[in-house]
Amino acid sequence: MLRFASLGSGSKGNATVVSGGTTTVLIDCGFSVRETRRRLALLGLAPEDLSAILVTHEHSDHSAGVSRLARQWNIPVYLTHGTLRSGRLEGCPQVTCFNSEERLQIGDLSIEPVAVPHDAREPCQYRLAHAGRSLGVLTDLGSITSHVVERFRGCDALVLEFNHDLDMLWAGSYPPSLKQRVASDWGHLNNHQAAELLRQLGTETLQHLVVAHISEQNNCPQRAAAALETVMGAGDQRVVFAAQNAGFDWLTLAAVPGQGEALQ
Ligand SMILES: [Zn+2]
Ligand SMILES: [Zn+2]
Repeated sequence: MLRFASLGSGSKGNATVVSGGTTTVLIDCGFSVRETRRRLALLGLAPEDLSAILVTHEHSDHSAGVSRLARQWNIPVYLTHGTLRSGRLEGCPQVTCFNSEERLQIGDLSIEPVAVPHDAREPCQYRLAHAGRSLGVLTDLGSITSHVVERFRGCDALVLEFNHDLDMLWAGSYPPSLKQRVASDWGHLNNHQAAELLRQLGTETLQHLVVAHISEQNNCPQRAAAALETVMGAGDQRVVFAAQNAGFDWLTLAAVPGQGEALQ
């Protein structure tokens, strides 16, 4: 079984837990140690349960809590060379640097980092697999690349950024330079881009789609849902919306029969 949940999703902090077999990893940690412990406990986890922390990039909503958490519980941290060189993740006790595109095996989880266009040093996102199932975690990218489409095709579950509604962004209170940044090819996906990416990836294999990293200022679930409905139809039971405060609860992918785990 592969299962996953979120401690929170959005520009005020992100962290996703993924668990397969006996291995549990945290992808990013944008929360304080105290807050991370509290949110892990709500999911029935403690920091001691984490085999590793995978970092996507150095922006503080993904990295702010990583080094303290890693130091306090001596958790190995995996990140790209560029993300380490940003200087925002100093003090981690056990660091493994990889080139995006280098495949990793951490315990029972197979992990493929995927390079994405985003305004950070060497950002990547992840596709994780166990027991014949795969999960794509794909937030913080400014545009659709053929590389991203190729690498995230055929996932059984996807956590996908629906960051902003373009009209709300332009009409909103962000300073002009920040609006430009968010809307650029190196910023974040707007609702229509996210829907288009989903169309290109195909939705046939998906058991779960999580609408994630929704901007509180520049988007709302209704607008994200309206864009999504052009691809998956209204009221699709596979869709879950991640919240900034509560993330989302455990979602499960049962093992493919005969692949890695005994049948129940
Ligand atoms: Zn970012
Ligand atoms: Zn972010």
